[in-house]
This record gives sequence, C-alpha cells and structure tokens, in this order.
Amino acid sequence: MAIQVPFHSESFDDLLDATFPFYLSCNGQMEIERIGRSLAKLLPGMPANASFDQFFEIKLPATVRSFSELAKIDGQVVVLAIRHCNSILRGQIFVTKQSAIFLVSLRSESAAELGKLGIGIGDYAGHDAAMELLFMKQAQSTQLNELQEMIAKLETTASEKQRLESIESALMHDLDVAADIIVRFNSAHRIIECRSVRESYWCNQIDPVGKLVHEIFPELDSVLESITGTSESTFEPVAFEFDTKSKGKLFQFDARVAKTLDSNFLLLARDVTQQKAMDQKLKFMALHDPLTDIGNRILFEEKATDLLNSESNFAILIIDVNDFKTINDNLGHHVGDEVLRTFASKMKLVDGNVTVAARLGGDEFGILLNGISDKETALDLARQLNKKLTEMIFFDGVFIEPRASIGIAISDSESSFDQLMRDADFAMYAAKNKETKSSIVACDKAIREKIKIQMETRLDLQSAIKKNQFINYYQPVVDLKTGKIASFEALVRWQHPTRGLLTPYHFVELAEENGMIADIGKLVLKMAFDDLNAIHAIKGREHVSFSVNVAASQIQDPNFIQIINQSLEESNCAVNKIILEITESALISDFDKTQKSLIALRQKGIRISLDDFGVGYSSLNYLRQLPFDIIKLDRSLITEICECEKQRKIVEAVIMLGRSLGLLMVGEGIETEKQKLTVKEMGFDYGQGYLFAKPVPFVEAMSLITADVLFSMAPQQVRLIPTYVPECRC
Ligand code: C2E
Ligand code: MG
Ligand code: MG
Repeated sequence: MAIQVPFHSESFDDLLDATFPFYLSCNGQMEIERIGRSLAKLLPGMPANASFDQFFEIKLPATVRSFSELAKIDGQVVVLAIRHCNSILRGQIFVTKQSAIFLVSLRSESAAELGKLGIGIGDYAGHDAAMELLFMKQAQSTQLNELQEMIAKLETTASEKQRLESIESALMHDLDVAADIIVRFNSAHRIIECRSVRESYWCNQIDPVGKLVHEIFPELDSVLESITGTSESTFEPVAFEFDTKSKGKLFQFDARVAKTLDSNFLLLARDVTQQKAMDQKLKFMALHDPLTDIGNRILFEEKATDLLNSESNFAILIIDVNDFKTINDNLGHHVGDEVLRTFASKMKLVDGNVTVAARLGGDEFGILLNGISDKETALDLARQLNKKLTEMIFFDGVFIEPRASIGIAISDSESSFDQLMRDADFAMYAAKNKETKSSIVACDKAIREKIKIQMETRLDLQSAIKKNQFINYYQPVVDLKTGKIASFEALVRWQHPTRGLLTPYHFVELAEENGMIADIGKLVLKMAFDDLNAIHAIKGREHVSFSVNVAASQIQDPNFIQIINQSLEESNCAVNKIILEITESALISDFDKTQKSLIALRQKGIRISLDDFGVGYSSLNYLRQLPFDIIKLDRSLITEICECEKQRKIVEAVIMLGRSLGLLMVGEGIETEKQKLTVKEMGFDYGQGYLFAKPVPFVEAMSLITADVLFSMAPQQVRLIPTYVPECRC
C-alpha cells in the first residue's frame, strides 16, 4: 500500500486530522510524532516524543513490537489499546522509511464516557472515509482467497499445511476485527460463508449458508442490480445499510459489498448500533436545551434557514419571561427552572402549528410557526399561547403567576434569519415596554424605528454620563394649608446634543435596564445637594426640602449609603431636608436589601417617600415594614378621586391609615382647581402638579423661592407671577 504524499507536509497533517482525527504516527525510535485532534482529547498533556509503548499496546498483530516489525505489516489491519483508558483504536497502518502512521478510529467507550471526554460528532467526521479504507482495500480478502485455494490444492507436508492454516486464521481474524459480519456469496447470489463476531446477530439463529443473499439481506436487492453488470476487474465497493433484529433488539449495520477476484462477492458489515445511538444522542444534545428538552438556538436557526430556503411563509415568535430575575432572586433558582420548564412544555402546544420551539438562552424562547403569512393569524396564535403561559403555576409550595412578552416577525421574500430575529426582538422589547400596554407586539416599521432610536439612545447615554449632559429641573410641592412651597422635587433632564432636552421617559428605564442609572443618579444627587445648599443660603428659606428620585438598583447597591455620605460631605447640606423618593415597583425586586438600605438612610435623618402609590401593588404591608415618612399618591388616582366615589372612599381609607402611621400625604399631578380642592378637602398635606408649576430649571425654582410665591388655596386661584431678579449665589 503506497501513500504518495510526504508524511509531514502541513496539508497532509490537516487532511489526516480531518479524516482520521484519532490517527497517530511514530518514528523509527518508536516515539510518538503526532496525534490527531480527537485522540489528543483522550491523552491530554501527552509530552512531545513520548514513547509509543508507554501509551499504546499493539493488540493486533499481537507479536509486533519494534519499528522494523511494523514495516513488515505495512497496509494491514491494526488494533491498538490505549493504556491509560483501555480504549481500542482500530484501523490500518502505513509505514515509510522514517515513520509509521496508524489510520485508526475509536471503537469503544460509551456515549456518556465520550461525552465526558469532550468527544462528539465532530470527532467522527472522518468515519466514512476511514470505513472505506478499512473495509474494502481488498488486500486481506484477496490474500485470503488465494490462500484458501492453495490450502485446498496442497499436497505438501502437514506442518506446511498447519503453517498456512495459521496464517489463514490470522488473516480471518484481521477481517473479523475490521468487520462484524462477513458474508461471501457466489455469482448465483447463494451464500457460501457467513461469519459474525457476535452470537446475538441473526446469523446464529438462522443458518444463512446456502440461502439466497437477498432473502437474508433484502436491502441488497438494488445494490446487487448495480453490481451484477460490473466487469471482472472492478472492485469498487458499494455501500448500503441494513438492520437485523434478534430477541427484540435492533442492530444497525454499515455494509460494503464488492466483487472479489474469484467472481464471488464479499459483504462486510460493521455493527454501528452503538455508534448510531451515540451519534443520535450527541446530535440531540448538540441541538437541544438540557433543562427544558426543547430545541436550542442552533436548531432554531437551522429550521428557520430551512424554511427560508424552501420559500415558505412563517412567523417567528420571541418570548421573554417577565421579571424572571425577580422570580429567581426571591423564590430561588429551582422555582425559576420550573417556570422555564413549564413555559417550554406549553410552547409545543400552539395548535399544532409549531415547527420548532426552542430556548434561545436565559429566559428567552423562540417559536417558528410555519405557513403563517399574515399578522392577524400570528397575533391570534400568540394570544392563545400567552393565555397558556400566564396560567398560574404551583410549585414547591408557592403560586407563581408568570407573565410573558411576545414579539412577532413575519417572513417575506426578502427576509433573512438575522433580520427576522432582530425584528422579533424589537417587537418583544416593545411588548416589554410599559407604555405599549400589550404583552404581544408584531413588528412593523414604527416599532423598528422606535427600537432603533432606543438602541442609539443607549449608546448616547454612555457618552452623556462621561460628558455630564444632565441637569435637574425642579417642581414645587405646595403646602395645601398655607399655599407656600414646602419643597422641590428634582426631576432629571438630559441635554441631548441633537435631540434637545429629553425627559426621563426617553432614557430612565433604558438606563435602569443597562445598569447606567447609578451613574446618572450620582450626578442628580450631587446637583440636587448643591442646589439645595444654594436655596438654604438665602435667609429664611432654610425650611425648604428637596426630594430626589432613586431607582431600585441604586437603593440595592451596597455602595449606595457610601455614595450618599460622600455627596453629603462634599455639599455639606442639611440631611433632614433631603427626601428620597422610591417607587413601589422598586420594593418588590429585593425586599430585604431595600429594607436594610432604607433603615440605614432613615437613621441618618434622610426622609423616605413612597412614590406613585396606588398604581402598583399598593401593599399595605410595605407601609408597615418600611420606614416611610411620606406617601405620594399617583397622578392617575388624583383624576379618579374627583370622578369616582368608590375610588375616593378607598383613598380616604389610605389617608386615614397614613395618618395613623404618622405619614404625610402628597397628591401628585394636580392640574385643575377641582383636583386641588378635592385633595385639600380630603386631608392631603401637600400637592404637586402643573396647576401650581411645571418642573422648571433651577434659576426659575430659585425665583419662585426668593419671591416667596404664594399659591391660592381658595376656590379661584390667583397666581402671583414673580419678577425674577437673579441673586448672587456666593
Ligand atoms: P415622578 O417621580 O412621579 O415625577 C412626577 C412626574 O410627573 C414628572 O415627570 C412630572 O413632570 C410629572 N408631573 C408633575 N405634575 C404633573 C401634572 O400635573 N400633570 C402631568 N401630566 N404630569 C405631571 P418627569 O419629570 O417626566 O419624570 C417622570 C419620572 O421619571 C418621575 O416620576 C420619576 O419616576 C422618574 N425620574 C425623574 N427624575 C429621576 C431621577 O433623577 N432618577 C430616577 N431614578 N428617576 C427619575
Ligand atoms: Mg417622584
Ligand atoms: Mg410620582
């Protein structure tokens, strides 16, 4: 057997590696020269020039030990045992003057063991090519035929006959190693010989010898047709696959059949049952998510690409579990996992339309709905799915009411996978956005545009923090008894270089999601403390307080107290005139941390206000467990109490409760005379809203304070507009 390529050219090494990833070569001193990438996984850390004997044992031919002996078996079947792990390598050896190269593949180890060693489908890429070489290079079978003929005709001494028979049995053994079933049949297709390495294969239960080969191997029919017409000199093997069943067990074989020189046929079959099971298992593992057993991102992309290639119309749904982090943090990861598993099981049930459901990562799922070309049908199916997903789950003693956000993109003739995913992602983010008011959104031009702006905003925010493009606006909070300004709420604004002055609506949520709110919060605090100092510097205005909004992530940041301390130190402002406003939604994410932080802040003398009360969970428990000083009733309720008697009664009860807990009540978003009079009449202490003043820049806030502006509390409000005379702040 001559190999016409130099052993150590790079391209040859690459070729070897790709075809026989378990190959190895050794030099004349029996030192290992190189090993294939997959074999390296079985022998990690093998040193350069390691001794062949230290790592391998030649099991077949069993007598061969030295390099000169290897040279004699050039082209033959070899079986090596790996000493460290008892694995078997099987294949052929090729020897040149300087090197012996073993073109082998791995023949043992269970799928689980291989998985542990990091060996997967990729390591079997060269399997087919290896089989080709191993099975049908004819060398052994031809030699064998010749030998058998010689033995039959032999009239020599018994010892010579014995010697030749032993060579024959060695050669048969070689073939046995290369194949699990060997069948010879004649030109009339009758089986002359049948050998199998395992007793449990069919051929030990029924004797195939003498039978027509296609009776035993029906799969051979078409193969025989193609071989029958071939000329004597053609020995190209034809591949086919067949199965056998024995005692209820299925065996799968890869087989080759070819004509031999004596015009008979030789069929060699290799049992690939285990390997196929392993391949299937590895393939499953490579394409599925281990937690939920549904597809993973790779499978999702594969199926979507297939649909795109077949020009089918389909919809992509991206589904995100809302507040998954909160579920994980508060209820534990085992509950989070159960939510994911439950979601996955429901994904498969979308009215039989699901082509594939996959977990794309974390708490994100994807569904491909084939045959969908219109938005309404996709939305309809998504609504059905959402209904199922949001059913209550009871697990480990807790009820969970999961929520999902679903984004939809529908393919068209121009679609690519990446663009569809981007669109579905955009739509999912829009569904998450509170102001969309729907948890299911199908992507359209407007959404694409909006999300594009959000993405640009996210990038701009980073540089805005560096360049400090933020300023505080201040909105007065009025004492409803006196009409005087009691405090100002600091409301951040972003001076965007191209888009002008932006309100928090455009960036606060985004900054929270991207972990940038802490940096913005620091700037806001610093400005607010400095401005408060400036107001307190004016004689007689020392009673004025400032409230600053803080996000949940700021409060829960272990460094938050330190940040407050540092800002206080730098500005040296009056601690008891500072109010921090925290929304209800911020309380639910990590109650313990929040409670700890709020208690520490309260101990410093800072007051805490519960903002936007009445729109979220409105849990009275929070009022009991957390050290609040003030409740700010949300703007939406202020409108409602003027129009709905029932709502008014509820709010009156809250006011009574607040009073009994010693809390002050603020009404937000007062826009009309009627609202002002209602909140005053109901017993609110303070009011805030456009009726009194919109949020204004600090200089204007300063002018309101210096002018001692007084808001009328009488039914007809007369507002005094002061003339602003800027004061020296030194
Ligand atoms: P918020 O703390 O509830 O602030 C009140 C919001 O209602 C302000 O909106 C204010 O301009 C608006 N508002 C006040 N009176 C009226 C009224 O009579 N009618 C109407 N229609 N609106 C009124 P703004 O300034 O856009 O702030 C929105 C939210 O952004 C704030 O709600 C607060 O939650 C958040 N925010 C503002 N500044 C900061 C900050 O520095 N840090 C953090 N984390 N959040 C902030
Ligand atoms: Mg506020
Ligand atoms: Mg508010």
